[in-house]
Amino acid sequence: MKKAVILLSGGLDSTTCMAVAKHEGYELYPVSFDYNQRHKRELELAKEVAAYFDAKEHRVFTIQNVGGSALTDPSIDVPEYEGDGEIPITYVPARNVLFLSYALGYAEVIGAEAIFIGVSAVDFSGYPDCRPEFIDAFQQVVNVGTAAGVKGNSIKIETPIINLSKAETIKLGLKYDTPYHLTTSCYNGGEKACGVCDSCVLRLKGFKEAGAEDPVAYV
Ligand code: ZN
Repeated sequence: MKKAVILLSGGLDSTTCMAVAKHEGYELYPVSFDYNQRHKRELELAKEVAAYFDAKEHRVFTIQNVGGSALTDPSIDVPEYEGDGEIPITYVPARNVLFLSYALGYAEVIGAEAIFIGVSAVDFSGYPDCRPEFIDAFQQVVNVGTAAGVKGNSIKIETPIINLSKAETIKLGLKYDTPYHLTTSCYNGGEKACGVCDSCVLRLKGFKEAGAEDPVAYV
């Protein structure tokens, strides 16, 4: 059975990627990261999502925090949604470079054919490591920097929602029975989502446009 590593944060986008990979017939090897994010709740939810999809193995890598982001430095407050096109302080320096590097090493070890990452270049917060330019560049890294790549059976970076809006992502996910009740998107964490951070605003807008009910609770 073909294997896929899925970057799983416990959020809406990565959980949708789990559903897509399962639908495409992959055996699932989700990976999550403990990187001093504000809330460990997302890691607990990631475990539940992995179990829901009957993942073969779920690895949680602990990586050193470099700081410099509202999501990893408790002294920096999470801002409310601004949508002004600037890269917000919730950007985590080089996060997807780090995450994909770990996922890549693991993918080589288990002989995975693909790595799924739930980046979107449509409804996103302006993070440079969510754009197609970055994914294409990282694919080059995979091709030239791994034994699998050099031997001609490179690992494919799969981005099933890169061209989808949040609403389109949700519609796709609902088609494949994605357990959105197990996901969290709020940067502020907590039992109930805040409804005002960048991530909550994009999520609520997405569900509304998709004509669906968000199953998670809001303050
Ligand atoms: Zn929020």
